Amino acid sequence: MKILLVEDARSVAALMAARLTSFGHEVRLAENGQVAFDKFCESPPDLVLMDIEMPLMNGFEATHRIRSFEAMQKWAWTPIIFLTATDTPNNLVMAIEAGGDDFLAKGLSEDVLNAKMKAMARIAAMRQLLSIANLKLEQQASRDGLTGLFNRRWMDINVDKAWADAIRTGAPFAIMMLDVDNFKKYNDLYGHQAGDDCLRAIARAIEMVVFETNDEGLTKDAFASRYGGEEFAVVIPGASVAGCESCAERILESLRKLAIKHEQNGNWGIVTVSIGGCRHEVSSGAVAMLFRDADAALYRAKEGGRNRIEFAAE
Ligand code: GH3
Ligand code: MG
Ligand code: MG
Ligand code: MG
Repeated sequence: MKILLVEDARSVAALMAARLTSFGHEVRLAENGQVAFDKFCESPPDLVLMDIEMPLMNGFEATHRIRSFEAMQKWAWTPIIFLTATDTPNNLVMAIEAGGDDFLAKGLSEDVLNAKMKAMARIAAMRQLLSIANLKLEQQASRDGLTGLFNRRWMDINVDKAWADAIRTGAPFAIMMLDVDNFKKYNDLYGHQAGDDCLRAIARAIEMVVFETNDEGLTKDAFASRYGGEEFAVVIPGASVAGCESCAERILESLRKLAIKHEQNGNWGIVTVSIGGCRHEVSSGAVAMLFRDADAALYRAKEGGRNRIEFAAE
């Protein structure tokens, strides 16, 4: 385990560190709560052994800060064990209240220390497995299984959040709906498996464009999602007219470059998409209206010949 040993008394620290190292642990030392907090944030350990009485910042305060720091990150909980000179019931209560998990008397025997460390190592290993599993679960819940884009569920939640922010600040807002042209024919011609590959490639292209426009400051916090089937949505909070236009145009352009063969897509000969957008200069009302208007614009793009962009008049 990586152990952060927080102890101001040098002799105690040296003795403990030597013992822990001999058990096979990696020990870093901190001489007070402030240093402990800094070292913790720099590189979180598997376990903290925390003295209580120390100059500058005591163990309770340092623990409180570490717990606040962890609260900002998901799934983080590092065991903190207090080291006390006297194991009075009062010390135990204080230690747990302060956010500690256990406490040890400083003078305890080598065997007991080793046994405690083994138990803590088991918890550290379990905690690591748990956070990996949780991250995976979280990813599965927010991502579309086929394309890896954000899924509809994630988009719905985050569109509402972004929309509420835009209403509060009176910022502009735009939504673009994208639909693959003649995709049924693509499946019929090349098979469903090829259709899936094609959707993956389109999703990657859309995601790259959105990443680029965000990166270049043309858009900010824009995100793409798989709306359903062969339809995608791009949400552009704070959208400028120029930002929307370049995002939409770059998507058509990037599909031209991808040039996935599609012999029955009009005269294009390659896979294309149609884009319908709706942008409000000042956000108000319900976000569902934007989707409805973007959808109507998409319908016009299809009627107008496909592989094109239509924006709803505000
Ligand atoms: P349009 O240009 O008017 O949009 O024509 P279209 O053929 O794309 O429109 P339509 O909505 O009739 O067909 C959409 C097709 O997309 C039908 C469906 O089989 C296909 N599709 C939807 N989801 C998937 C998917 O996950 N994988 C594959 N391979 N095909 C899909
Ligand atoms: Mg001390
Ligand atoms: Mg469709
Ligand atoms: Mg289609």
